Amino acid sequence: MRKQAKCICGYEIRADRLSYHIEKCTAKPIIEKLQAEVLSLRNELRNIPNERNAFRLEISELRRENESLKRTGGDIMDNSKRICTEVEVPESGAIQHVTQHVTQNVTNNIQINLQHITVYGKEELPKAMNDLKHLVLNSQFTLCPAAYLELKHFGNGPGNIRIVDDELEVICDASGEKKWKRVDKNTELQRSTQQSIKEITSRYGDKSILYNFPTWCKTHNVHDVKSIKFQEMVREVEDMLLHKNETAIKDD
Ligand SMILES: [Zn+2]
Repeated sequence: MRKQAKCICGYEIRADRLSYHIEKCTAKPIIEKLQAEVLSLRNELRNIPNERNAFRLEISELRRENESLKRTGGDIMDNSKRICTEVEVPESGAIQHVTQHVTQNVTNNIQINLQHITVYGKEELPKAMNDLKHLVLNSQFTLCPAAYLELKHFGNGPGNIRIVDDELEVICDASGEKKWKRVDKNTELQRSTQQSIKEITSRYGDKSILYNFPTWCKTHNVHDVKSIKFQEMVREVEDMLLHKNETAIKDD
């Protein structure tokens, strides 16, 4: 029996006739082209995690820049307030005094305002049912913790949590005097997001529409802090706080 050979298309033929078949085979070039495509797709897939990391780095870099720009913007606004006050005063002798007075008032106001803010962790439970229903009806489940925490920490005016220079600060009670205290940002964002999920589930998990929230959390493995959806929730909470900073500067 003569030696058999096989073409890439699967066709078997006597070895001495293989080159004759290959010349005429219509499947071979197509198969080879597809194989090359699969190979290049595999390589692209391998590179995706690197690209994703680069993208993440870029986002956090932009966030930092944004933060520092906002801060500079705030300073400029403070200065321009002071300058305007100076311009409006007619007697030149009084300028220095008025400027000091205004600055003093601003400082006093900030201190007084702090004393009215609820200490972080001592907030009342927010009335969040309507806001959450709206989000769940729109399948915006990942926004629920951010919306809940916004009501909880900013419910009655000024918030008791803020992001400054990419650091997280919360209002604490230092022997009778309320102060901003720096805490580890990632730890606290994660903890408060988990806490909000627990509170939403225990308070509204048996209510109409909102019973979908715990179900969705289970489906998407949200109890695992490394799950994609949990990470998304944490990012939404951080974005909400950054947006709150922005609004606070505009209100000043
Ligand atoms: Zn063939």
